[in-house]
Amino acid sequence: MTMKSHTVYAGKLAIGGGHPISIQTMCNTDTLDVDASLAQCLALALEGARMIRLTTQGPQQVKAFAVIREKLRDRGVDIPLVADVHFSASTAMQAARVADKVRINPGNFSRDRSRVKALLAELFTICHRHHTALRIGVNHGSLPSHILETYGNSAEGMCQAALEYLAICKAMDFPHVVVSLKSSNTRIMVQANRLLAQRMETLGMDYPLHLGVTESGNDRQGRLKSAAGIITLLQEGIGDTFRVSLTEAPEEEIRFGKLFLPVTEERSHPASWDELIVSACYQWAPGLLDGTTDWKTLPMPFVEAPFATKEELIDFCMDLLQATRCIITRPEYISCPGCGRTKFDLEETVRQVKKATSHLKGCTIAIMGCIVNGPGEMADAQYGYVGEGNGKVTLYKGKTPVMRGIPQDQAVARLLQLIESQQK
Ligand code: SF4
Repeated sequence: MTMKSHTVYAGKLAIGGGHPISIQTMCNTDTLDVDASLAQCLALALEGARMIRLTTQGPQQVKAFAVIREKLRDRGVDIPLVADVHFSASTAMQAARVADKVRINPGNFSRDRSRVKALLAELFTICHRHHTALRIGVNHGSLPSHILETYGNSAEGMCQAALEYLAICKAMDFPHVVVSLKSSNTRIMVQANRLLAQRMETLGMDYPLHLGVTESGNDRQGRLKSAAGIITLLQEGIGDTFRVSLTEAPEEEIRFGKLFLPVTEERSHPASWDELIVSACYQWAPGLLDGTTDWKTLPMPFVEAPFATKEELIDFCMDLLQATRCIITRPEYISCPGCGRTKFDLEETVRQVKKATSHLKGCTIAIMGCIVNGPGEMADAQYGYVGEGNGKVTLYKGKTPVMRGIPQDQAVARLLQLIESQQK
């Protein structure tokens, strides 16, 4: 199905309504570090980002956010800035006075479900007054408890979590809303967005969709997961804006995301690995994700590239089959992109964890940048490495913290011990 959406403005950027698909990203700087955040915003705007999100934990960050935005405008850069807010409706309301768009998460907007309607009404009033858009950003790993009880941790649950909020937007005549349903599992992400597009059509809703595969990791695996999920939906006419989420510098997210556009299967012969990822996802990801392409009948390798050996291409194909959840032949890594809440070198840590655990086929390991959102967003990881801050780490088995306060320089080895002790 091709999804029709209405236009939502974030600052001057038109999202949906047939406007060009926009690429966005998120700063990984501390929002309180105004100079670093400003420099990163300028670099990202130059790289081609059309919208930038900043983590906005509380009143101090709202103030810093306003300064960053003002300094960008002073330099003639009018890129819209989005405040990413979790666990605090009052922070969302403060941010709505200074941001072009505010992201809220139904999984943590308000602990008290009976207050959601009243809080949203208040937020809509502020947004109307300040011409601020909203994103209702549902994550597979942090669904509201009543949704989990009724629908489980499923694509249906993600869709229902969004529809509950969208119904309130519709009833209160607040149209300035973009919606996202993200998962690190590409099949769930694709199913959830298709379901939402269908349900919205049935319900007479046409809110624009923001696409993303969350916590997809880094390097080729992270790129393949993001590309497989996002490109599959874009090819179906679903999606108005997207973020490639990588545990790398946000500039890399933009550089790689630009390769997705224009949305057409006609791609010239790849000359780099990144181009191969995109062209392979255009050609193969929809069928592999849906199971309409029987991967067992494909020749190996089933992609071509003049710069790679046959062995390298077979390795690439195995990564693509894992990204589309056809077959698991390697460990599965879930790692967040990092943001202003991250207080350690996440990229380097991911590299270390991968190196130490590369032999653990089929094991799902999460590496998350903060203790506030990390545990909730680890989805179905079997083990988790979560930064506490102050050089300490908590290790998880499933959703349960099993070792707290581990010094960071010992944490990778302790994680490996934990996993191996469970596998004996
Ligand atoms: S889990 Fe990662 S991206 Fe999400 S808030 Fe924490 S540090 Fe930021």
